[in-house]
Amino acid sequence: MEKLYFFNTLSRSKEAFKPLRPPMVGLYTCGPTVYNDQHIGNFRTAIFQDTLKRVLRLSGYQVRHVMNVTDVGHLTSDADEGEDKIEVGAAREGMTAWEIAEHFTQRYLKDLAKLNIIAPDVLCRATGHIPEQIELARRLEAKGLTYRIEDGVYFDTSKFPGYGRLDPSRLEGLKPGARVEMMAGKKNPTDFALWKFSPKDKKRQMEWPSPWGVGFPGWHLECSAMAMHYLGESFDIHCGGADLITIHHTNEIAQAEGATGKQFVRFWMHGEFLVMNQAKMAKSAGGFVTVRVLEEKGVDPLAYRYYCTTAHYRKQLDFTWEALEAAQSALNRLRDRAQALFQESRNSPGGVEETALVQKRFVERLEDDLDIPGAVAALWETLKAGAISPKAQYLFLEACDAVLGLDLLKSSQDQLPEEIRRLVEEREDARLRRDFKTADEIRLRLAAKGFVLEDFASGVRWKKRQEKESRP
Ligand SMILES: [Zn+2]
Repeated sequence: MEKLYFFNTLSRSKEAFKPLRPPMVGLYTCGPTVYNDQHIGNFRTAIFQDTLKRVLRLSGYQVRHVMNVTDVGHLTSDADEGEDKIEVGAAREGMTAWEIAEHFTQRYLKDLAKLNIIAPDVLCRATGHIPEQIELARRLEAKGLTYRIEDGVYFDTSKFPGYGRLDPSRLEGLKPGARVEMMAGKKNPTDFALWKFSPKDKKRQMEWPSPWGVGFPGWHLECSAMAMHYLGESFDIHCGGADLITIHHTNEIAQAEGATGKQFVRFWMHGEFLVMNQAKMAKSAGGFVTVRVLEEKGVDPLAYRYYCTTAHYRKQLDFTWEALEAAQSALNRLRDRAQALFQESRNSPGGVEETALVQKRFVERLEDDLDIPGAVAALWETLKAGAISPKAQYLFLEACDAVLGLDLLKSSQDQLPEEIRRLVEEREDARLRRDFKTADEIRLRLAAKGFVLEDFASGVRWKKRQEKESRP
């Protein structure tokens, strides 16, 4: 690619991207807090990050991607108060804190795979990096940037010049005279915990000794410590959801740069929210859709990935089930087209030069701050125009899919949800055993879930019943 431009939250402008040590690109993305399944709004951010990674690879960069798993220290309140989300989740599920963290980490990785999100090169757990976090807090203490109160060790944000420059508007609201609720002992409203002491009246499952006393790390500390451990004190790109800008990423900068005196990250990139019923998708807001819920409703998780291509990553995306259904049929049409093009061009040579020509428009959209909606529009226009050979169109689809990750070359017949696929197979077995009673029962169960089967000599085909289709 000629040149990549990305919007940098730090400068609030599009900048030409140049890595510090080409061809390597260091990429850190904030991962899940593993006390629950992640909702599809969280996965919208993960899909944006995966697209970024694929575009960097397409540009010839070697990406080293590090993602953390928060398995301790993320409290139910952003103000360093409340309970640890992991310990709350453990009590809810009747597991230990360690078990629940492992359980939801595994489920998260499965969901990533279902969405064709390439796994990170390093997946690091906060509990696996306690010494690195203590070391970072000690460096900050040695520089006089911390203070200790009854509840823990805190970062003194008034001693770090430039604190809050990732989101200056927030500091406006905290000027003297503003009414801010503040924990007893905190010197400034923006100060945050580096190390929290275990409560005296309650035994925590996860706690460690430290130079200051038994306790656990503050949530923000893990990302600074692990990012620098795996990517160096300065690296190229740090991503996350837009909700992390104001506090979490602001504090990550303070911790890292406070300790090293160097620029921590060159490019900060943030994905906007998925919105449902006018509210950001969140556990507390009611509308909580997971990958599992999609599958239960017979939706291919990759239809959701297609859905995410319909808005730029820096714009909010409205979620409705109707629009998701439209995304599913658009994806099916692309796959059917790919199948047809494959059949048409099976024995024809060439196509590569023609493909390069149309690919330019697709790539140009990617270079402009990952304009995926524009790139997908260029893809559809190329297919509609049909100005290049079927072979070239097929190669073009293949090239686009390396960025989009939609399994475009898979037949739509392969895209059955796991549970439905199993039922179809069981019915096939029953039919072969000539157990027609069982086969019919399964057919009815599938029909109840909206799947209609047709038997052909070559095997069984299925289709999803349209709501409006009239039944004879
Ligand atoms: Zn983080």
